[in-house]
Amino acid sequence: MTNQLADEMPIHDFPTATSVAEFSRNIAEVKQKITEAALRVGRDPADVQLLPVSKTVPEERVRLAIAAGCRELGENKVQEAKRKSENLADLGVAWSVIGHLQTNKARDVAAFASEFQALDSLRAAAALDRRLQAAGRSLDVYVQVNTSAEPQKYGLPPEELESFLREMPQFSSLRLRGLMTLAIFSSDIPRVRTCFTLLRTLRDRMRDVDPQLVGDGGLSMGMSGDYEVAIEEGATCVRVGQAIFGARQVPDSHYWPDLVDSQSEASAPAAPAAPAGPAESTTPAPNAAE
Ligand SMILES: *Cc1c(COP(=O)(O)O)cnc(C)c1O
Repeated sequence: MTNQLADEMPIHDFPTATSVAEFSRNIAEVKQKITEAALRVGRDPADVQLLPVSKTVPEERVRLAIAAGCRELGENKVQEAKRKSENLADLGVAWSVIGHLQTNKARDVAAFASEFQALDSLRAAAALDRRLQAAGRSLDVYVQVNTSAEPQKYGLPPEELESFLREMPQFSSLRLRGLMTLAIFSSDIPRVRTCFTLLRTLRDRMRDVDPQLVGDGGLSMGMSGDYEVAIEEGATCVRVGQAIFGARQVPDSHYWPDLVDSQSEASAPAAPAAPAGPAESTTPAPNAAE
């Protein structure tokens, strides 16, 4: 049993942390699982960064998480990240934007973020670079790849990755940390795993073509439900929200709309007015459809 990979989706129960002690406990548990997953495949646990994701979490509770040791926080939406970065500015947190960027928000990201994980268009790269140059700042970025072939997911199709990466050096304020992906939402672990394997394979292939092409060559992949699988497949950064902060009420379709054309700036996702009501499923429905 010692060398067996995770092949079953555990049953998740993510209790809401409401004190520093509860945050410390949740973080310690996640770190323990990170360590175990890394050791299962002979990796050094220190090579896996934990990025806690605080989206939808009110600032009072984010403060508790920071008191429990979080120094970097991930947020999906620029507006929310900007607000939190301003209101929590006294605490010295580094903010990572991990969701799709509309180019009209590039200026905000350039102003407050230290990292952007969802780069998937040259337009966004150019907009960010222009703002960063003007501000005399630089930004760590990951290029997002769509590894699940779901048309509604953001990210570059794998076949466009190489030509995209070849354009990156012209944006000198963007420091390329590696590749990022979201796996398919499924309880079928082998299928989830294929997404992570694909990202690693793409990284390796790009490195073979040109060692400079993928920057640091990092792999940001894995969330609360699948980060152990991601680590087994080579993740160097896992983005974990619910396992640290507690279950989210907002349906995931709010973050991964199923009908948005990812190339179209005009079709910004309309935010659902309220958390899932009785008519709406609380599961990450659109993306989970098999
Ligand atoms: C919300 C989010 C996560 C974390 O998801 P959890 O289920 O809360 O762990 C990871 N990556 C992205 C891009 C996200 O928006």
